[in-house]
Amino acid sequence: MLLDLDHFKAINESFGHQFGDHLLLLTAERIKAQLPLQARLARIGGDEFAILLQNLDEASQATKIADKLYNKLTEPFEIDGQPITVSFSIGIALDKLSHREQAETLMQDSHRAMARARALGKEHYEIFDPGMRIEAVKRFQLEAELRQAINKQEFLLYYQPIINLETGVLAGFEALVRWQHPQRGFVSPGAFIPAAEDTGLIVPMGSWILEEACTQMHRWQQQFPQAKDLMVSVNLSAKQFNQENLSQEVADILEKTGLNSQCLKLELTESAAMEDVNGTISQLVKLKALNLKLSLDDFGTGYSSLSYLHQLPTDTLKVDQSFVGRMEEKSNEDSEIVKTIISLGHQLGMDVIAEGIETAVQLAGLRKLKCNYGQGYFFSKPLPQDAATALIVENKTWLDDEMHQDGKRSLAMMQ
Ligand code: C2E
Ligand code: MG
Ligand code: MG
Repeated sequence: MLLDLDHFKAINESFGHQFGDHLLLLTAERIKAQLPLQARLARIGGDEFAILLQNLDEASQATKIADKLYNKLTEPFEIDGQPITVSFSIGIALDKLSHREQAETLMQDSHRAMARARALGKEHYEIFDPGMRIEAVKRFQLEAELRQAINKQEFLLYYQPIINLETGVLAGFEALVRWQHPQRGFVSPGAFIPAAEDTGLIVPMGSWILEEACTQMHRWQQQFPQAKDLMVSVNLSAKQFNQENLSQEVADILEKTGLNSQCLKLELTESAAMEDVNGTISQLVKLKALNLKLSLDDFGTGYSSLSYLHQLPTDTLKVDQSFVGRMEEKSNEDSEIVKTIISLGHQLGMDVIAEGIETAVQLAGLRKLKCNYGQGYFFSKPLPQDAATALIVENKTWLDDEMHQDGKRSLAMMQ
């Protein structure tokens, strides 16, 4: 069993190392008090304890001990008259008699289980299963391949149209990254952005994405007169956003590509923005000084502090697609949420984009609520560059009256 104190580094930094040492001692004592006599306990790293339990008949005996440990250890400690409550993650690896695992393997496996327990944050312990080993290897491969993908030019951008819901005119595109993997084919961003974040690879990748999107939009604007006011939206990951020199980099890219800064919109998710609100405000202010546009993505899922919202120099709220997707449901709750977000955005002087519009009814509902822009499969999926070019050339109006009337009729029927 491997037991790891959560946030021990932060405890050391906040209360001092002596305090941290004291906490470790008290922790060790509490653990010892809960263990059967023949168990062995060792401190194997700064905040890690390994426990060897022998002669167990079944796994539940181990989980029972894990439960007991957890309950005891999460009771407040008192150090220098100061109460402190800490949390733990526990990983358990079982040595089946038939396997006679090496001690080293057991340690590794319990470590993986512990990391899983911590990442999930639901249960306080996790039992190792061989799937975790496979997953760790897969993850390692993915990271290795990601490292090479930039040089091998395996990334490309797709462009999803954003439509002005009042006029039906194309307002711009959101650039969405795709990975064209030589063996696995298309890999969606959900499958590799998290790994790119963890490894820091998102930073060089993000620079490439930004430059590519700006280059493409500038090219379109030069080629087609109807494209001269189009905007391109580019997603920023949390790690990218926290880069000290981000605004300088964006300024350099704008200069290099020649794109008018007014035509660039940067998207930051609401949850990333709220991680450290004061840091967010100062970073956004620096970006805003470049005279570009800023958007809060996936709005409604990130627990915004409303008192901070008006301090953010953002231009746009993007209603999360989960609310738009449920607008047609009977309960009406989600329609109310969408309505509230739209009026909140407008009150704060921002415009509002709804993402994930899939039906005429959703569209009609959003237009009725005076949502400014829309994006979703109902209009178009994200498109490769040549298909997006064709759309610009076509220069059509997206809201023909018939389609609009259809949606209005169904909306009226539902009400
Ligand atoms: P996002 O920024 O909220 O992008 C919208 C996602 O919704 C896209 O998924 C898009 O394909 C999808 N979508 C659009 N319309 C509809 C619809 O009508 N129905 C449904 N069900 N889905 C729709 P995608 O391209 O898989 O991207 C997922 C997420 O990955 C993005 O969410 C964004 O957070 C991240 N991502 C994508 N490209 C980039 C990038 O270049 N850089 C960074 N940092 N993150 C990116
Ligand atoms: Mg986005
Ligand atoms: Mg979104």
